[in-house]
Amino acid sequence: MKYSIALVLFLLGSSAPARAQLQIKSLPEPGFDSRIREYIDTLSIIDTHEHLLGPELLKDGFFLDFSLLLLQNGYDDLISAGMPDTLYDELFNEELSPMTKWKIIEPWWQNSFNTSFNRIILYGIKHLYGIDDLNASTIVPLSEKIRNAYETNWFDRILRDSCHISYLISDGNFMPGKESYVKYVKRFDDWLILRSKYGLDSLAIRQLDPIYSLDDLEESLTTAFEKEIKNGMVAVKIFASYYRSLNFEKADKESARKVFRNLVNGDIDHRISMNDAKPLQDYLFHHLMGLSRKYGMPVAIHTGLQAGKGKLIDNSNPEHLTGIIAQYPDINFVLYHGSFPYGGELSAIAKNYRNVYIDMNWAWAVSPTYIRHHLNEWLEMIPVNRLIAFGGDAMAVENVYSELVLAKNIISDVLSEKVSEGYYTEDESKTIARMILHDNAARLYKLKKLCTNSHNIPRVVIKDHNKQVTSHLT
Ligand SMILES: [Zn+2]
Repeated sequence: MKYSIALVLFLLGSSAPARAQLQIKSLPEPGFDSRIREYIDTLSIIDTHEHLLGPELLKDGFFLDFSLLLLQNGYDDLISAGMPDTLYDELFNEELSPMTKWKIIEPWWQNSFNTSFNRIILYGIKHLYGIDDLNASTIVPLSEKIRNAYETNWFDRILRDSCHISYLISDGNFMPGKESYVKYVKRFDDWLILRSKYGLDSLAIRQLDPIYSLDDLEESLTTAFEKEIKNGMVAVKIFASYYRSLNFEKADKESARKVFRNLVNGDIDHRISMNDAKPLQDYLFHHLMGLSRKYGMPVAIHTGLQAGKGKLIDNSNPEHLTGIIAQYPDINFVLYHGSFPYGGELSAIAKNYRNVYIDMNWAWAVSPTYIRHHLNEWLEMIPVNRLIAFGGDAMAVENVYSELVLAKNIISDVLSEKVSEGYYTEDESKTIARMILHDNAARLYKLKKLCTNSHNIPRVVIKDHNKQVTSHLT
């Protein structure tokens, strides 16, 4: 049988190794992947989003044992695995021994040990406490090690020395003594989800000033905002999508006033639907945007999957924000959590609007597969100055540590693959890593350069980022 030359050339061509990307740069020298990873390990990290319970708070609570590590992601997956709400309430409202807690948790852990949230917990106990598994025989020794750790400066050692975090942005409790590196976002959602007489009265009591009119209500928001500016907030945080849609529309003052009058004239337990309250909430949202613009505050918004159970995912679709993003071109909007599962929508929005930042915090823990895919996509689509990589969105430092290792692994893999194809040079990949893990957040939140070794804490040596952290406790 004779083949035509064209057919032979076609077959030869089709058997050549396929390249996923255009080769623009020369192929890298061998060892580039470990050099990229080592470079990433030298970087100072800006951690843009945490809900950490500070050491002072922990000492007064019920959580200074293994259960600390299940806050909140681990518990969410126990509930998702079927743990009844009554048991969950029991865990949080009573002082129980570690073993009693474990007996409640164990059946649901055995149905959810597979998830990313729970693998992160296992990684932390292995590498920070030298314990291989979570089970009836390890609960007591692990809890003992956790209690001992928090007798030391464990909190700072994990965040500063192991994770090399130069700044951490907290969405939560004030942490005394951490002012040099912990900064705060502040929430004003009490105005944005307002729909009851009780809610209105609470705002008045908080500012020790009565609210008789819509103007008073606007003034109360201004006062609260300006107080937080003085306290040094670095951004506004909006979590309204846990309760209502992010579809904040234009609202005229008269419609807002009607809702206000309805609330202010109601009995103490008067409450209206989110939909009926929307004109007032939307009006106050625009007032908040006016303040953010005036003071040059970035606005960080929870988008995508909400923690907990039973939430409406569509409420948090970033597409709802397009009108707002277009209306306020001089406000920088930071869309949190890689908008899981709306990564494609987020790509399109961020490509179209230069005042949108993608922040991947928490998405590493939610789904490593999702974030790997979308990090590839965002690098190909979005100018790198508007990509921000890391925040753990965690309540315990151990989980920040594990999630950061995970994030660094994925970032290294994604960049190395692109370097291996000649899509980026090794140097370009390092520039990208530095920008997304540090420089972009430093610029956006106006964080001054800080010497990471100025805190004078004994170093925790990372022997091998994938294998072991040597601490005094393991
Ligand atoms: Zn959060």
